[in-house]
Amino acid sequence: MTPEMWLAAAIGVVVGATVMALVLALAKRRANDDGGGTVIPHRTREVLSALQSGSIIVRRDRRAAFSNHTASALGVTRPDGALHPGVADLAEAAWAAEQVVEDEVEVSRGVLGVSTIVHVRVTPLNGDLALAIANDNTEMRAAEQTRREFAVNVSHELKTPVGALSLLAETIEGNADDTEMVEDFAKKIRREARRLTKLVQEIIEISRIQGGESVIDHEVVPLAEVVEEVVEGAQISAEARKVTVVADISAAPTVMGDHDLLVMALRNLVDNAINYSDLGSHVTVTLSREPDTDVAVLKVIDAGIGISKENQERIFERFFRADPARSRETGGTGLGLSIVKHVVLQHSGVVEVWSKPTVGSTFTVRLTIHQEEQ
Ligand code: ADP
Repeated sequence: MTPEMWLAAAIGVVVGATVMALVLALAKRRANDDGGGTVIPHRTREVLSALQSGSIIVRRDRRAAFSNHTASALGVTRPDGALHPGVADLAEAAWAAEQVVEDEVEVSRGVLGVSTIVHVRVTPLNGDLALAIANDNTEMRAAEQTRREFAVNVSHELKTPVGALSLLAETIEGNADDTEMVEDFAKKIRREARRLTKLVQEIIEISRIQGGESVIDHEVVPLAEVVEEVVEGAQISAEARKVTVVADISAAPTVMGDHDLLVMALRNLVDNAINYSDLGSHVTVTLSREPDTDVAVLKVIDAGIGISKENQERIFERFFRADPARSRETGGTGLGLSIVKHVVLQHSGVVEVWSKPTVGSTFTVRLTIHQEEQ
């Protein structure tokens, strides 16, 4: 759990305890029984309605004597007082144990089969009432799942270069007298080591960017400088592949953000454009301003191998490679575009791809232009 989650949980417990005390006091002065139901005093309703969490007063007949808007928005109660069976079961467990009981219940929403995970904490109030406090845990669970999957992917990805290094070293050991072979394999070891370094660096970067809290520096960044820096830095790898990389700057917009992260994102796009182009091809990086808007547009255009429609949907996923062999040959990690996506998101921008196999690809990044204070 992040500190914010702990804080939210702590506030929930304190608010819950206060509400419970109030409900207990007021429930003792229960007005009358409305045919199996319970009349909840006005003041108690007011307090429960004001809570950010879903709050429900549960009756023995597995129905709600009261529930606030959040509880129905979460889908744990219905307007007619019907309760999600999971919540009713928890209330029964709380009465039986005579103590607080908590768990998560899955609430299915609509016809699309989407469900939410709701954390419910039930406190028995007296013989026939219980207070349930409900909070949406769906995002937290999804984030945990992503982290778990990421850890599995990372260990898998690290195994490949490490395994290759060990095999190469073994081969050198067995052929120590063959100078030519030793040289050749030493080169391969260097290449794998470079790949491993890049992979580790990118894993650190992506963990940092995805870490939940914003990591970006807020400074005014002239995008033309970002483009120039990236295009200049790309010349050596471009020359090695006989690819020309040029900048076409037709505007000078600035954005509020992190210079280094923007350079990293654009560099990833340009590196890909070079790596997935044929020898002698051209790559253009354009910077312009969308007419009549405050939107800066960066485009990285290549005339390379292109990406099929179905793969275009997946290329921003971590570790996805359309052609693992080619990506491996160019030292790819499958993390580059995932980093781009997160950096752009952190800058409240969007990134899109247009591509056609054998024709080429264009990656477009749109960012909001920073307005200088008057
Ligand atoms: P990698 O390190 O493998 O390049 P990326 O996340 O940067 O990882 O890209 C994911 C995949 O998307 C690549 O493996 C490649 O198949 C495809 N791809 C990315 N950019 C381009 C491009 N400009 N042209 C063709 N394919 C591309």
